[in-house]
Order: sequence, then structure tokens, then C-alpha cells
Amino acid sequence: MTSLAHFEKVAGALALPGKAVIDGQLLAAVSGTTFDNVSPRDGRVLNQVAACAAADVDIAVASARAAFNDGRWRKLSYRDKKKILFKLADLMERETESLAVLESLDVGKPIANALSGDVPQAIRTLRYYAEALDKIYGEVGPETQDRFSFVVHEPLGVIGAIVPWNFPLHMAMWKVAPALAMGNSVVLKPAEQSPLTALKLGELALEAGLPPGVLNVVPGMGAEAGRALALHNDVDMIAFTGSGTVGRLLMQYSGQSNLKRVSLELGGKSPHIIFADCPDLDQAATHAAWGIFYNQGEVCTAASRLLVHEDVADAFLDKLLRVAEPIAAGDPLEPSTVFGAMVSSEQMQTALRYIDTAKKEGGVLRLGGNRTRTETGGYYVEPTVFDDVAPEATLSREEVFGPVLAVTRFTSVEDALRLANATPFGLAAGLWTRDVSLAHRAAREIKAGLVWVNGWDSCDITMPFGGFKQSGFGRDRSLHALHKYADLKSVSITLL
Ligand code: NAD
Repeated sequence: MTSLAHFEKVAGALALPGKAVIDGQLLAAVSGTTFDNVSPRDGRVLNQVAACAAADVDIAVASARAAFNDGRWRKLSYRDKKKILFKLADLMERETESLAVLESLDVGKPIANALSGDVPQAIRTLRYYAEALDKIYGEVGPETQDRFSFVVHEPLGVIGAIVPWNFPLHMAMWKVAPALAMGNSVVLKPAEQSPLTALKLGELALEAGLPPGVLNVVPGMGAEAGRALALHNDVDMIAFTGSGTVGRLLMQYSGQSNLKRVSLELGGKSPHIIFADCPDLDQAATHAAWGIFYNQGEVCTAASRLLVHEDVADAFLDKLLRVAEPIAAGDPLEPSTVFGAMVSSEQMQTALRYIDTAKKEGGVLRLGGNRTRTETGGYYVEPTVFDDVAPEATLSREEVFGPVLAVTRFTSVEDALRLANATPFGLAAGLWTRDVSLAHRAAREIKAGLVWVNGWDSCDITMPFGGFKQSGFGRDRSLHALHKYADLKSVSITLL
């Protein structure tokens, strides 16, 4: 039986990774500088991590380029590529507990979630793309007597993957696995708040036999390491998950450098609509609560706007609050904790500021609203619910990326669809109805990359993931993601 004491012991015994993984070696930053890696669990410094910057990125990109050019990975047989990627998945499985503890310490998420969600999902993603890599076929062009034409997928070359801190290992794997499966080399830049599992991944990849230089990991600040990677003239693509602000910068950097491709998975303000004929208010209430409070609300697809028909609004709110009230913040390493710390003091302050603004703008506070567990030194915010939030209020328009729910009532289907589309975002949406025609119509009219009917977050690795509008472009997950990391080459052979 696992316990807090068990996970504290595991944490105490772990060697916390702090060196960059470049060209098959574990390296300090060229400058020799490090940064404090702070745990939001208690605000303490966990370890020192190499503060990579432009000089380190140059070396990592050169190593990735050399690996790509000499074909040490790209030209391996399918069978050998699969063997190495499956070995990596097996090593990750072996290390499940330590990866989960690293993730929990680094970002404050409940250890139970890291063990049952983040780590196994990252492993599943890796195996999915390893299985897929020999199932990508080219095309043969129209048949003629004097020419034979075909289309092949060419890997792009060096992929810069820049990822956020909310699901650090899993988001990294959404980029790394398909990019490697298509034969590319990768330079991975984890968020400065969450470098540990990415660094461990780099180390495990070497143990699995991935040739040096094929997967490099450069920890460091976004404005240093991330910027240098995105401005680099020898990087062919930046695959990004993060904020819209940085997404905009990345497009500028591309224009200022080599016009590298950019794929952007950005934020959201996802609507969750409860129509009056909702088939199961209890189930919907559970989904609505966990849709916003899972991972402390630090989820790009968080169900942060609840749109509920006025006929069922009071009954639904009561049910929702009954689910949400017992969700108390706890120690991330305690196995029974379901709601942990926010990733950083800054992110906590941001959530508290939004709560303050929502009060000032007339939202009716029904639950939470405060910082909690202050005595731990960590960064905890209570699950928070605001009712009667006006569509034009800040809380209806801006992403909090924290555990704050905005509830707005509507009177008609048209009203609900208008509200659902009334933000600059278009990542995810959910709706509950018995009416199959309404489900179809709403699913098509809501501008979002993911729409869930009678459920929330009910897709997995097999379905594409990404946004419309300012939630970005390009898709992670599914076989479609593989095509992001390759381009089509048309070859035509004249038959003399
Ligand atoms: P962020 O944009 O601040 O940071 C993301 C990454 O970008 C980090 O690695 C950071 O170091 C790097 N970065 C920062 N400045 C940079 C620069 N100038 N040049 C290059 N890289 C730079 O976002 P965050 O705070 O880590 O994550 C939260 C955001 O991510 C939210 O908006 C959330 O919705 C979004 N997100 C989206 C998805 C999705 O799939 N759509 C998934 C998770 C998170």
C-alpha cells in the first residue's frame, strides 16, 4: 500500500536531473549558470538546472543536424527504429514511479494523477507512434506509359519542440514521438517551471539506444533557450504548446529567421453547454466540476465556461457544488490527494487576480476564492465557482489557467451557440442534450477543434487535438500528427 511516507522516501532517494542532454552527453550550460527549480508543493528549491541559452542551443542544433544528415536515425530500418522506441517505452514503464514523483514535485500535481494519467499516457503515445511508423504509405501518381510518378514523405530535419508545464512529459511526448517516428531529430525545450521529466526522458532515450544527437533536451528560460531555438536558422520547424503571447512571438521569429514552420497549440476558454434536455444532470455535474478542477484547472481544454439553460440552472448548480465542495487542496505526494498545488507563485497570483476581477465585475462567488494551505509555503488556490458571470466580463473572455469556473445562464439554443463562439479561442467544447439533431448541429456550429457530446474530454491519442481561431493551428495526436513532421516530395521518372 502506498502512502505519503513512501512517496517522500522515493522523492528523497531520487537523483534529480539537472544537466542538459546534448549530443548523447549530460552537460552543464556553456555559461556554467543554473537556475533554481522550485517545487510548488512547498516553495522550496528542488535542485539546480542548467540554464541553457543561445550557445547551448547552437551545439544542440548542430548535433541534431549532424545526426539527421548522416542518417544514424533517419536511415535505420523500420524494425530498428521501432525496437528503440519500444525499448524507450519499456524503460519509461520501469521508471513510472520515479517519473510520476518527478512530475508531482515539479508542478504540484497529485501523485495519483501522475501515476494513472501523465506517465502512462506519455508511454501510450510513444507506443502509438512507434507502432504507426511502418504504416505510412506514399502514393503512386496516375499511370501513364512514359512516366512513373510517386509521392514520398520526407522528414523535415531538425524539430524544435517547445512545451509548457501543465503536463510536461505528456505534452513533450505528443511532439517528440511523432517527430522521431518520421525520422527527424529533435531539440526539446521544456518549460523552466518543469524541466525534470524532460531531462529524464533524454537520459532514458540514450539508455534505450537512441543515437546521440537525435533527441537533445535544453532546459532554460523561454526568452533565452526558447527564443534562440525559434530564431535558429538551422531548425526546420517549431512545434509549440503554450500561451498565445509566445505563439505570436514564434511566428515573428520564424519570419525574422529562416521561415521555419510553426505549429501552435495555444490556450482556450472552452464552453461547456448544459441544454435543458440534458440526459443526466448528475453525470453532467461531475464532468463540469472535474472539467475545470482536474490538474488545478491548469489544462488548455479546461471547461472554464459553464453555459447552462435557465430552466435547469439552479438544480444543476446545486449538483455541481455538491461535487466541487469536497475537492480540497492537498499535498501532491499524498496518494489520496485529488487537487494539488498551482505550478508557481506567479500562476497562483494570476488566478487570485482573476478572482478579484470577477468579484469586482459582479460575478457571484459560490465556492472558494482564496489561497489555501499557506502554511506549507506552497501555491494552492481553492476550487472556485462564480455564478451569473456576464458574457462581456473578463472571466468569460480570458483564460485563467487555474481552478476558476465562470457560470453563465442562457435562454435558447441560439443564445447558447452565440455565447459558445463569443471568444477569440476555439480549442474545445462540450454539450449535453438528448436531441441528436441538436448535438450534430451544435457540434458543427461551435468553432472548436474538439467537441464532446454528453461527456468531457472523451477522446484519446487516436483523435486529432488542436484548435481553431486563436487557439492555434496544426494538430497533435492521431496519425494526422505524423504528417506535420514530414513534407511531400513528388518524384517523376521518365521511362526512356
Ligand atoms: P508559455 O507560452 O509561457 O510557455 C510555454 C513554453 O514557451 C515554455 O517552454 C517557455 O519557456 C517557452 N517560451 C516562453 N517565452 C518564449 C520565447 N520568447 N521564445 C520561445 N519560447 C518561449 O506558456 P505556459 O505558461 O508554459 O503554458 C500555459 C499556456 O499553454 C496556456 O495558455 C495554455 O492554454 C497553453 N496550453 C495549450 C495546450 C494545447 O494543447 N492547446 C496544452 C497545454 C497548455
